[in-house]
Amino acid sequence: MAEFEFTRLPHPAPVPGATRDQAIADPGFGTVFTDHMVSIEYDAHRGWHSATLGPRGPIKLDPAASVLHYAQEIFEGLKAYRLADGTMALFRPQANAARFNRSAARLAMPDLPEDVFVEAIRQVVLADKDWFPGVEGGSLYIRPFMFANEHFLGVRPAKKYKFLVILSPAGNYFKSGAPAVSVWVSEYTRAAPGGTGEAKCGGNYAASLVPTGEAFERGHDQVVFLDAAERKWIEELGGMNLFFALDDGRLITPPLRGTILPGITRDSILTLAREQGLDVREEMYSLDQWRADAESGKLLETFACGTAAVVTAVGKVASRDGEFTIGGGGPGQLTNRLREELVGIQRGAIEDRHGWVMKL
Ligand code: PMP
Repeated sequence: MAEFEFTRLPHPAPVPGATRDQAIADPGFGTVFTDHMVSIEYDAHRGWHSATLGPRGPIKLDPAASVLHYAQEIFEGLKAYRLADGTMALFRPQANAARFNRSAARLAMPDLPEDVFVEAIRQVVLADKDWFPGVEGGSLYIRPFMFANEHFLGVRPAKKYKFLVILSPAGNYFKSGAPAVSVWVSEYTRAAPGGTGEAKCGGNYAASLVPTGEAFERGHDQVVFLDAAERKWIEELGGMNLFFALDDGRLITPPLRGTILPGITRDSILTLAREQGLDVREEMYSLDQWRADAESGKLLETFACGTAAVVTAVGKVASRDGEFTIGGGGPGQLTNRLREELVGIQRGAIEDRHGWVMKL
C-alpha cells in the first residue's frame, strides 16, 4: 500500500454529535449517511490516482458523463460489525473486492487492486467509527461503487472512472423485522443467459424496480425471479440468494450459471452447511417442485441470504397461480442454526475457523 497514499482532506462541517446520535439511534436502512467518503480517480493514462478521504458531499458531474447515458456503473455492499471486544471488523472484504473486479470486467471497466478496495473501506470506516449504530444488531453498511466519468456520447468504454466509498448506519433490513418473509414470484425476469445477471451493476437493479414494486403492492416483502430462458427455474430474490431444505437432508441452492449474483453470504452458508454434514447441492429447482414439495411436506424450510438481511426465513410464496406456505410459515431449525452460526462468526462470538473476519 506504500505507493498508494490516501490524502486526508479536512472536514469543515461534520454533523454535530447530538444530531448524529439521534440518527444512529434509529438508523433504518440506507437513509442516514456518515460524515466521510473515499474517492479515487482513474484515467487511461495514469491508472488509479488522487485517492482522498474527505467530507461526504455532492459530486460534480458533466451532463455528458458517460454513466448518465450508458450506465457503466457497478457497486458492492458489505458491513462493518462490532465484535464482542468492541473492535470493528469486516466480513470477507476480499471476496467483495474480487466480485467488484468481476463486475468491472463484465462492464468493460478497469480493475481496482483488491488491497486498494479494502484499504479504502478501512480508511472511511475508521474515520466514521462514531457513527456505529447503538441498536441491537446494528452495523455500518458499506457501499463502494465505481462509475464512468468521461464526457462523451459514443457507445464505447469510458476512459475515466471514479471510485467512491460511502457508509450508512444500518438497523434491521426488513421494516417489519419479520421472522419470516413473504415473497412474490414475478413474471418479469431479471437476467438472461449471457447477460449481466452475475455482475453487481446498477442496471440490474433498475430493471428489478417494477417487479419489486409489484411484490410490495401485493403486500409481499421481496420478489422471486425465475430464469429467463424457460421461466421455470428459481433464480434468486431481488437482493438475496435462496436455499431450500428438504426432509432427506438435502440443502439445495440454485447454481451459478451466470444469471444470479454469486452472494458472499451464499458462499459462506454453503461452507457452514457442508461442515454441519448436510447434503448440499447447487442444483436447479423449479417453481413447480417448490410448490409440490411445500404441499407434500417434503420441503421443511426455505431461506434467503445476503449481507443486508443475513439469513431470513421465507414463510409464504405467492404467484399468479396462487399461494403456498412453507413448513409452519415461520423460521425453521436449520434457518435459525445457520443464521446463529454466521452471525456468531461475524460478531466474534464463534471462532473464525475460515479467516473470514478482518479486524479493523
Ligand atoms: N442477490 C442479489 C441480486 C443481491 O443484490 C445480493 C446482495 N448483494 C445478493 C444476492 C446477496 O449477496 P451477498 O451475500 O454478497 O450480500
